[in-house]
Amino acid sequence: MSDLLSLDLAAARDALAKREVSSTELADAYLQAMEASEHLNCYVTTTADKAREMAGAADARLATGDALPLDGIPLGIKDLFCTQGVPTTAGSHILDGFRPEYESTVTSNLWRDGAVMLGKLNMDEFAMGSANVTSYYGPVESPWKRQDGGNSRLVPGGSSGGSASAVAARLAVAATGTDTGGSIRQPAAFTGITGIKPTYGRCSRWGIVAFASSLDQAGPMTKDVRDAAIMLTSMCGHDPKDSTSADLAVPDFEAALTGDIKGKTIGIPKEYRMEGTPAEIEKLWSDGADMLRDAGAKVVDISLPHTKYALPAYYVIAPAEASSNLARYDGVRFGHRASLEAGDGITEMYEKTRAEGFGHEVQRRVMVGTYVLSAGFYDAYYNRARRVRALIKRDFDQVFADGVDAILTPATPSAAFGLGEMTDADPIQMYLNDVFTVTVNLAGLPGISVPTGLDSQGLPLGLQLIGRPWEEGDLLNIAYRLEQSVGFVAKPSKWW
Ligand code: GLN
Repeated sequence: MSDLLSLDLAAARDALAKREVSSTELADAYLQAMEASEHLNCYVTTTADKAREMAGAADARLATGDALPLDGIPLGIKDLFCTQGVPTTAGSHILDGFRPEYESTVTSNLWRDGAVMLGKLNMDEFAMGSANVTSYYGPVESPWKRQDGGNSRLVPGGSSGGSASAVAARLAVAATGTDTGGSIRQPAAFTGITGIKPTYGRCSRWGIVAFASSLDQAGPMTKDVRDAAIMLTSMCGHDPKDSTSADLAVPDFEAALTGDIKGKTIGIPKEYRMEGTPAEIEKLWSDGADMLRDAGAKVVDISLPHTKYALPAYYVIAPAEASSNLARYDGVRFGHRASLEAGDGITEMYEKTRAEGFGHEVQRRVMVGTYVLSAGFYDAYYNRARRVRALIKRDFDQVFADGVDAILTPATPSAAFGLGEMTDADPIQMYLNDVFTVTVNLAGLPGISVPTGLDSQGLPLGLQLIGRPWEEGDLLNIAYRLEQSVGFVAKPSKWW
């Protein structure tokens, strides 16, 4: 095998099964590539020994012909998933030294199916961000470059920026991500890979560091749609340890990829035509709609009237839940504790630990969240945002009741921007990155981002498809058809 790193998950699985390559060779090739690409800052922890041990066990199974569904496939894990005995940081200083005693359900499912862990991937602190610039462990760089941009370094998107950059730069066959408002789909679009956020409740949240519990979902970030289908099948499933996990059978999502979408109805929501959207994104969107029409789908205009309230509602609900979830980081139970001076009591210990342990964006969210939940403001902000959320969900319910099978939108309002081009000075600019993705989390729906083109600078752009609840198979199949029609493989000009 000349180029092990170019294999996607499906191809690696087939090569492993045919014994054209061993899992150990594959893991070693990735570990070497990771070492050579440290400047991208994708991994915060490399688990080389674990990877070799897991790969050895996979090779032993593969030799008997009794391969598991993901046997021997090297994966990167977003550092929000608790991994037993392996540092888990959530990109935060406050979790310094935290080695969970337990394994998250999603990662357990992946290891149960034979996958191999390469390491833990960098991310925005507590998954708050859209550019992977809020991590305590420094920003992640994308392997992409603007055609005429000299050497300017680009962000991979966020919060699953380490996952996106690692898959795009061939530092993992695939990776896990989490998505609270777009953190799988937006970085996938920025780096030319595929990412799906399943229906809320499809993947167990047990053992995933919580950001906003009513919005958080895990999902795969992969080179293409087939890989996403394969990996999602392993990741999800009912888990009694998460009361919001759905007790539903997991279909074989790969089997749903027929490419036949004749008779499907695709909705184009007029409210997603935002002012200031670049012409090339408008074109990407209408080209995508044409491709689906040519493949036999019916494309119809639809209206989701409450879309414009989605970002403000999200930025009330998500910080509110975060402020409550992050109360547990107090210097007593996990990670970092500030050094104290004589006379300091428990209050000083909490205050100093949290001031040192949390970065600016996390502190901002905790303050906003505490404010919108405070007596006197609770009804004006939090309860109003919850009502808006219900209306947003009702818009989608109505459209699906009218016979729409999936909704096509842009994934992001722009291509990736440069590191340092969007600063802390105006957080709202950063929040606008999520304008097309947050509605999907608020309504609990499945959404997928597929790379469908390049902008004038040669940077990847993605389209988003939003599906009916629990119909990930159908959604993946429509995405698969779109991917086939585009016939486009997004590759950075230079591998690192
Ligand atoms: N960018 C959004 C935020 O900062 C979404 C993050 C996410 O999905 N985890 O909240």
